[in-house]
Amino acid sequence: RGSLVCVGTGIQLAGQITLIAKSYIEEADIVFGVLPDPIAESWISELNSNFVSLQNLYSEDRSRKETYKDMVSAIVNEVKSGKKVVGAFYGHPGVFAWAPHEAIRQLQALGYDAFMEPGISAEDCLFADLGIDPGASGCQGYETTQFLFYKHDLDLYSYVILWQIGLAGEWTLQSFSTSRSNLEKTVSYLNRWYPLSHEVIIYEAPFLPTQEARIERFPLSSLPDKELSMSSTMVIPPLHKLELDEEGLKHFGLTVESYK
Ligand code: SAM
Repeated sequence: RGSLVCVGTGIQLAGQITLIAKSYIEEADIVFGVLPDPIAESWISELNSNFVSLQNLYSEDRSRKETYKDMVSAIVNEVKSGKKVVGAFYGHPGVFAWAPHEAIRQLQALGYDAFMEPGISAEDCLFADLGIDPGASGCQGYETTQFLFYKHDLDLYSYVILWQIGLAGEWTLQSFSTSRSNLEKTVSYLNRWYPLSHEVIIYEAPFLPTQEARIERFPLSSLPDKELSMSSTMVIPPLHKLELDEEGLKHFGLTVESYK
């Protein structure tokens, strides 16, 4: 009977994959992959020669929603035909990635063995390279366009991580980049909460061991001048330092003075 495991390959080539993910890849009948570049694809093909890239399903003339559905169908069909299938996705397979979750949902509903193994995501690299501990004052993560189009409450005491900033406001789901005008609108939206002088960071973790991380700090107002890519993530450091909450403390029989 067919089965599916979705694994992460990490961000940096070869070194950030877990031992269990590597062994699933080596033992699969077929491996489908969404990987950042041809070098990563050829590395996975060396682990298992029956490797099929799903990257070529992306195209500027159709919605990414259709592409993701095709990815799911390709995976689900091979499982139904009785194969031991692995979906190898860069980073963590379940982080800002619809297709692996959906393939698992569909196959589990049909009674197949289908599950996910975690991987090292871009956010994990970000915490390491920027020296940010998400536990220090909290951390919120949003897909940028969803953040811009839906209602959200922002916690200004914590870090905010905006994924897919390089696609900010790209609602057609067809283009692979944003525009200066979209970035200007993003800045004015964020200006509801943050002053234009507030420092933000663009982060890009290296995919290859020979590359350096991009860590660029600048005032929010300069965002439209920045070159962004599909692998850019924006970090907004807290606007305020943590402050004790009298109401919260009261529930525990404490006061600001007694807790300090
Ligand atoms: N599953 C991936 C993971 O676990 O990191 C995330 C995939 S999501 C569709 C793509 C977004 O992840 C990018 O727009 C960016 O925000 C972030 N990302 C991907 N690669 C990155 C990198 N090398 N450095 C920083 N952020 C990255």
